[in-house]
This record gives sequence, C-alpha cells and structure tokens, in this order.
Amino acid sequence: MNCEKVFQGWSWISNMQECIKGCRIVIGWDNNETQIQILHKTSQSIFCVISSSEYKVQCFYSFVYAANEGAERRKLWNELVQNSKYVNGKPWCIAGDMNVILQPNEHSCGVSYLTADMIEFQDCLNKIEIEDICRSGANRCSLCTSDSEDLVHMFFKCPFSIEIWNKVKFKADIRSYSNNWQDIVKEINDAGNGNNINSVIRRLMFAACVYNIWNERNGRIFKDVKRNSDEVFKSIEETVKKRILGLIVRESKAVRLMESKWGISCKRAIPVVQD
Ligand SMILES: [Zn+2]
Repeated sequence: MNCEKVFQGWSWISNMQECIKGCRIVIGWDNNETQIQILHKTSQSIFCVISSSEYKVQCFYSFVYAANEGAERRKLWNELVQNSKYVNGKPWCIAGDMNVILQPNEHSCGVSYLTADMIEFQDCLNKIEIEDICRSGANRCSLCTSDSEDLVHMFFKCPFSIEIWNKVKFKADIRSYSNNWQDIVKEINDAGNGNNINSVIRRLMFAACVYNIWNERNGRIFKDVKRNSDEVFKSIEETVKKRILGLIVRESKAVRLMESKWGISCKRAIPVVQD
C-alpha cells in the first residue's frame, strides 16, 4: 500500500514491522488538528496517546486488529491488561476488529452459548475495566439525543443532520435519494463532470456539510456550545463561499448563474489570445 499517496500531507504509522504476514493496522492523522504519540506497537495493536490542542483533550487509544486464532488473541488480551496499568484510570478507547464477540446474541447465526473465546474476551474487559459503549448506551448522539451515535446515524439518519443535509441538497442541487453516507459518496463521484462548476460545488458542499456536522458534534461534547440547524447550514455556506471565491473560473452561463445564486463574483481565467 502506498501510504504516502493515500495520506498525502498527513502523518501515518503502521504495524508493518511487527507483522509476519503483511501490515494489519495503519493510522493516519492530520498533524494540524491532532497529535499522536505512539507508546507500544505489536502485530495486533497500536497503543498511543491522542491529543487535540483545539479541544484540549487527551485520550489513550488502542487500535486493534486481533488475530484469528484464540491462542494468538490471548497475547493481545495480555497486552491490553499491561496497557491498562499504564493508563491507570485515565480516558482510554479501544477500537478495531476484536475477531470475537462478547455475547452470544451478537452472532449473525444466533449462537445461544458462550464459547471459551468469548469468556476470555469478557474476562479481559473486566480486568481492564472497559465496557462496550454500544451495549451500555453511553454513546448517545449529541445532536438529537434520541439514538446512539455512529457514522451511519450521523450521516444522515439523525433528524438534526437530515435537516441540514436537505438544505445542502437544495442549495447545491444534489439529487440524491439516499441518506446513506457510502451511497452519497458514490453518487457524487459517479455524477463526475470534473471541473464543471456545479459539480465542484456539489463536492464542496458535501465535504463542508460533513465537516460542519462533525464540528457541531464536537462543540457540543467538548465545549458545551450548541447551534441550531440553520446556524450550522450558514456555516456550511460560508465555508463553501470562501472556497468558491478562491477559484479561478472560465466565463460561462453556468458560472454566471452560480454567481447570482451565491451573490458573489469569481476571478476569471484570462483567455489565451491567438493571432
Ligand atoms: Zn442524532
């Protein structure tokens, strides 16, 4: 995998050197927003401290990709127990693929009994005093407070996000019937038209919409600041307006229509005069 190409200006780290059969975990982050200090790496986990200067928070994080074999996974549970001594009661999040379920009812085929693997996993979580927030209900969406928060809910099943998304769709003329993040990304990509001004604005609006909803969520959680959906939408428009004003466009009917819709006027590319 070409991480330089994927992450571009971001920093990244992998556990390639710790793995025998190819890299299993890659973490990429924007150094302008987030700082990561790696504390320990193995073939199944990367243990680190993540800090955000903007939100003034610091949290221990373990990124996990557990082995397929139970015996190998036991090493991971031991690693987490060791990490927990270092964490010593401070905020700690463990995320990734554990390759084992916690409860029989999580199984896609509805297994009705606890296996030895599940018991070992539960035992580990009890020792390190970590709980599954999806089960405990602690991850309530801060935007609507009526459902649990995850990517699918936030983009765009959440009533608060839907209000904003509908305004964005109207303003940018995005004809998407889906409220699912992956479908929308595909639709916007498939609609293509590269440098066509309306296509550029559709992509800018979608990116600004996601960014501003995520910012609103963080503001509510970390700064206790709450805006309504109109205010978030205005912020999306401002973000996009600034970006459009930075573009150099070619004169066309579509550009003139866009300018009157947004109440702006863009710089024009100087046409090449041939004699
Ligand atoms: Zn919600």
